[in-house]
Amino acid sequence: MFENLSDKLQRSFKNLRGQGSITDENISDALREIRLALLESDVNLAVVTELVEHIRARAMGSQVATALSPTEQIVKIVHDELVNVLGKDTARFQKSSQPPSVILMAGLQGSGKTTTSGKLAQWLKKAGHRPMLVSVDVYRPAAREQLAIVARSINANLYEGDIKGEPADSRLVERLAREARREAANFGCDMLIVDTAGRNHIDSELMDEMAGLKKLLSPSEILFIADAMTGQDAVNSAKAFNDRLTITGAILTKMDGDARGGAALSIRHVTGAPIKFLGTGEKPDAFEPFHPDRIVSRIMG
Ligand code: GDP
Repeated sequence: MFENLSDKLQRSFKNLRGQGSITDENISDALREIRLALLESDVNLAVVTELVEHIRARAMGSQVATALSPTEQIVKIVHDELVNVLGKDTARFQKSSQPPSVILMAGLQGSGKTTTSGKLAQWLKKAGHRPMLVSVDVYRPAAREQLAIVARSINANLYEGDIKGEPADSRLVERLAREARREAANFGCDMLIVDTAGRNHIDSELMDEMAGLKKLLSPSEILFIADAMTGQDAVNSAKAFNDRLTITGAILTKMDGDARGGAALSIRHVTGAPIKFLGTGEKPDAFEPFHPDRIVSRIMG
């Protein structure tokens, strides 16, 4: 996770430490290296430009008396600005006043929606909640079966419904969702995680279906599941979903395979929605809440 960016940033700090005294020229050189490190890590250009400008403004005026050496001051400024771009605080999880709170999982096919639905259910169980899972992907029986397997493996409640012989369309999607919400309430479940159908690309049919589910279920969370390894493509998809659905947060999956970190560092700035969790492997417990300061400490080494 973030190995490339971390190595490159460390190198630019090392160069700075090698200088006898810090001049505006040294700072400009370091900023150039930081900019390059961010761009090579596939961070969105607008994010890079803003970050570097903020760092520049603070670094140029930072030669005031402090316990930190000039280089350490710059390291601290970079640290703070990276935390800012990630959203500073750990995101809270919204709940509705009337149970069950509905969590709508959105995203493209293969992004990790089903795996992450299971991870989230397990995390909620450990936090003392009683989640129920439902897949409303009526188009792919294999997708619904995959969620059933995941639910069994973590011993979580699942609403399967009986949809045999029904035409696979949005009406059926909404019927299943409505039934699942009723079942969750009857069963005393306080959270309903709705795994939705993904597509290979964003199309109006997918967006209409998601908008219909949003209207029907009034979810307390709409989480966009983004495959971190797809970098800026994930950021662009998150933006498209957010423009139509107003997501409440993002979950970045496959962070274990993402050495660059471009999606992680861009998604908050581009969508305005915080990253809430990270997926760090295929197993149900390879999942962690997103803490901006801890992540930045990892990047800064
Ligand atoms: P969906 O089509 O969006 O429901 O995606 P799936 O949940 O089926 O996941 C697609 C693939 O990504 C599966 O092989 C998962 O095991 C894998 N996957 C999901 N999350 C992670 C993760 O955090 N790390 C790794 N390494 N693989 C993941």
